[in-house]
Amino acid sequence: MLKFALAGNPNSGKTTLFNGLTGSTAHVGNWPGVTVDKKEGVYKKGAEPVAIMDLPGIYSLSPYTPEEVIARNYILDEKPDCVINIIDATNLERNLYLTTQIMEIDVPVIIALNMMDAVEKRGDSIDATELEKRLGLPVVKISALKGQGLDKLMERAFETCKKPRVGVTVIEDTALKHFIGDVKIALEGQGVQNPMFHAVKLAELDELEVLMHKDTVNMVEAFKKTHKDEIFGDDFEALVADARYKYITKYFSPALKRRNKEKFVVTPSDKADKILTHRIWGIPIFLVVLFTIFHFTFSENLFFLGGLLPEGWVSLEGTAFEGVFGDGGINSIGVMLMNLVEVGTTALSDLVASLLSSSPEWVTGLICDGVLGGIFAILGFLPQILVLFLFFSILEDSGYMARIAFILDRALRKFGLSGRAFLPMIMGFGCSVPAMINTRTLADEKEKLATVRVIPFFSCGAKLPILTAVSGAIVMHFGVGNVDFITYGMYLLGIITALIAVILMRETTLKGDTPPFIMELPAYHAPQVKNLIMLLWDKAKHFIEKAFTIILASTILIWVISHFSFDWKYLTDEQMESSILAGVGQLIQPLFTPLGFGSQLKAFGWVFAVAAITGLIAKENVVSTLGTLAACIVTGALVDVELDGGVGAVAIMIKETGITLPALLSFIAFNMTTIPCFAAVAAAKGEMPKKSTFKWTLAFWIATSYVVSSAVYLVGTAFWTVFIYLAVAVVAFFAIRFYNKKRLEKGKIK
Ligand code: GDP
Repeated sequence: MLKFALAGNPNSGKTTLFNGLTGSTAHVGNWPGVTVDKKEGVYKKGAEPVAIMDLPGIYSLSPYTPEEVIARNYILDEKPDCVINIIDATNLERNLYLTTQIMEIDVPVIIALNMMDAVEKRGDSIDATELEKRLGLPVVKISALKGQGLDKLMERAFETCKKPRVGVTVIEDTALKHFIGDVKIALEGQGVQNPMFHAVKLAELDELEVLMHKDTVNMVEAFKKTHKDEIFGDDFEALVADARYKYITKYFSPALKRRNKEKFVVTPSDKADKILTHRIWGIPIFLVVLFTIFHFTFSENLFFLGGLLPEGWVSLEGTAFEGVFGDGGINSIGVMLMNLVEVGTTALSDLVASLLSSSPEWVTGLICDGVLGGIFAILGFLPQILVLFLFFSILEDSGYMARIAFILDRALRKFGLSGRAFLPMIMGFGCSVPAMINTRTLADEKEKLATVRVIPFFSCGAKLPILTAVSGAIVMHFGVGNVDFITYGMYLLGIITALIAVILMRETTLKGDTPPFIMELPAYHAPQVKNLIMLLWDKAKHFIEKAFTIILASTILIWVISHFSFDWKYLTDEQMESSILAGVGQLIQPLFTPLGFGSQLKAFGWVFAVAAITGLIAKENVVSTLGTLAACIVTGALVDVELDGGVGAVAIMIKETGITLPALLSFIAFNMTTIPCFAAVAAAKGEMPKKSTFKWTLAFWIATSYVVSSAVYLVGTAFWTVFIYLAVAVVAFFAIRFYNKKRLEKGKIK
């Protein structure tokens, strides 16, 4: 089968074109050894099917990011039959920079001049024939968004791939050109393929080339030495880049005819940016947007209309849908979907339970509570997570997220991160798994690692039940505070922990410069429904695949060990105290003594230890474990532990175990800052360069949760300890500063 590769700048419309060409045949995977998406598909509308490979979006073929290396090696080594270079026609000059590099490789190339609809809408025009003549490459105007010109593009690509092509360079600077010519002849003599491309890169002293062509490097070095001051100066890379841009401005730019040649055109996008990226209003506007998104996803009182509605208006009392659309207030779309899923899953559970009514008790228990309970717990969260994804994808696709990263870059820089780290962190509020995967956009390994490590501190959706249940029980039992206040306080604690952790890491183990944040702000686009649906489907699949296996297995395990004794006898709920789980719980209980919920608790105190441990598998387990165990401890309790979101369960636990208020806060803090869940651990592992880094990350999470929650407990119990913590923090801070300074000085002396 013929093989075409799609290459182009980020945001040039590559994904849109790829989807347009391959439809549903696309297959997403990873490039070997790195966490960069690899997409393949088949174009079937032509005379013969063609495999289309979507290369990562890049600005150049230099070796600075994994994306660049992948794209470059693919074209050089895999030798596609044709490279389709997609260009954003509204940004002709910048996009052609990559073209001038691809042209140097001995491969058929065709230019897809994309976004022509946008160019025409502006009243500009591009002379494709002129461009084609100048480039010596076929140029086809398309609009990937509107699906225009795609067949024509593929037709010409078919013709193009039949004719072999020899690489040419646009570098005109005579001395430089001659020198590159010499290097090329030398390489040809050695039988090197793609001599033009390698000659230019070698002249730039590109890292990869220097390693590959050790003999020829001497030639470059010698040349550099002789000509150093006369013409070239020292930085050949800049020189080559300059030569490329000169050529582009001189010959290619005239192909673009602007309607308003002289006047600077203010596009609607520019106007929107005046407000949305405003120095003062930018951030408040963003906060409002964020709040709205969370409101639409999680709120049970949409637009705060609850008080105004006639009683029972939305609750549909007495029907199968009681409470689905609201109870008092109107539910947000996320909560409605969640409730609908719940109606379905409850009906299914009931059905299965009635089918199993004549089987032994343990079979019913295992299947209904263990297996179905596990699957449905996950399904229940899926709607809200998908709704959150949908909103974030809209923000991302429309170009707004790029602006936010840009606004926040200055603030984040103080903590040693660039604006790019912001999106994954904010996504962490939804779910750590996609957030960690999203760190792939961070090119700098150290920045990426620091970001992956703090993502769990941005409390995810699954931790919300822990926050609301425990703080609800605190208010109920101790009669202090306010649920919202405690919940927000805990969110804040997570964010502060994240910021402190980032500063510490960037000052110590992950020292390094914060990479510059250069980013072209793309014009605002209306998001494409088709793209969004495909994205959501992808994420849903990923979520189900990764989390299903782990959570399903863990619920079955918890069920089994809480219903069997060490000598493998089946136990009823009431006999839980003799279960394997209780035994293990008592064994690990002392580990949590410094945190306030360990050995100091009375009977049944082990349940908090068990809940914390099951939470390491998935945070959904925490409240469900407390609920199950509470129901068993208080036999025949009238409190329905499930209905009030676990508040009743925690209240029972408080009464039975005598746990204190600071210890409860410490319990929340522990859950918020420790190992997030197995799915996130797996995702984090996928983003780590080395095994040892992964181990250190696990250790980091455990240590942080220990320090943070013991601090919460101690400060809550004995207020004066605040000063000890402060003193330790100040001493540590200055010690690190001092150490770094010393190291720097040493380095300088050498
Ligand atoms: P990628 O980063 O190169 O994969 O680019 P995408 O395919 O995600 O496209 C970036 C943005 O450009 C999206 O918002 C698209 O809707 C938009 N876009 C893509 N092709 C066209 C086009 O032909 N015309 C217009 N007006 N917008 C386009």
